[in-house]
Amino acid sequence: MLLRAPRTPLALADLPLPAPGPGQLRVRVAACGVCRTDLHVADGELPRPKLPLVLGHEVVGRVDALGEGVTRFAPGDRVGIPWLGWTCGVCPACRSGRENLCPSARFTGYDLDGGYAEAAVVDARYAFPLPAGYSDVEAAPLLCAGLIGYRAWAPVREARRLGLYGFGAAAHVVAQLARHAGQEVFAFTRAGDAAAQAFARSLGAAWTGGSEERPPAPLDAAILFAPVGALVPAALAATAPGGTVVCAGIHMSDIPSFPYALLWGERTVRSVANLTRRDGEELLALAPAAGVRTEVTTYPLANAGRALDDLRGGHIRGAAVVVP
Ligand SMILES: [Zn+2]
Ligand SMILES: [Zn+2]
Repeated sequence: MLLRAPRTPLALADLPLPAPGPGQLRVRVAACGVCRTDLHVADGELPRPKLPLVLGHEVVGRVDALGEGVTRFAPGDRVGIPWLGWTCGVCPACRSGRENLCPSARFTGYDLDGGYAEAAVVDARYAFPLPAGYSDVEAAPLLCAGLIGYRAWAPVREARRLGLYGFGAAAHVVAQLARHAGQEVFAFTRAGDAAAQAFARSLGAAWTGGSEERPPAPLDAAILFAPVGALVPAALAATAPGGTVVCAGIHMSDIPSFPYALLWGERTVRSVANLTRRDGEELLALAPAAGVRTEVTTYPLANAGRALDDLRGGHIRGAAVVVP
């Protein structure tokens, strides 16, 4: 499925089978998760994607060809391909364990063709072996919703009361990690979204409400998954002194100005960006140990455009996954 230009529908296309270059794997795609970032790219909200482009950076498949020099995987191995597709390895960020901030990084389904396809190539150093307890479609959402969720959650995993704003694919994984760690989860959804609130309660949320509501007790931390800048002051207002508000999305509408009193009291607002390979290794070990299950809605590959529309409309419970 090809994106030829932003704000145009994805189109089914016949492309030559990609050949793996030196150090690369070719993967036969079994499933690919649909991420909100795909929507931001398709809608033209992120600058300069490769065009034409195959979207998709939550790719699960099996290795079917090895480029020169690859020893880390063998044909038939099941691997996952995440958003981080390549980094330079020599810049200050790469050399200090922060390859997620590499200014030359290339991203799957953005700078590199991704997984809305029958086959994809990946630099073998950035592919992950996947835990066995998940089917292909269940594993897909771990590769971005899970990974970015994990990176957003890691700095606030000690907080007692955790607020999650936007209860989609990432939050449904993070809620389970948080409950496993003994945190109390407060889930904020669009006002009146009874289905999302019931889903959050089924995953252990102690309280659910609309995103402008105040929780029954102040939060110690909040993670914003919804791309809505107005939620930053709303979350600060719900958070106790010393608490942290983490913005997890790659794109967000402008944050309105707000009184300094909302930040005063050593509250912190921060973002997280991309992932490191270490994040992936940690999450893919923790998810099965914590009993994380993913809930998915599958679409045939040719209906990837409908999956994006359903995500835009907030109609997906858990994560959407396309299947070639
Ligand atoms: Zn670098
Ligand atoms: Zn993503």
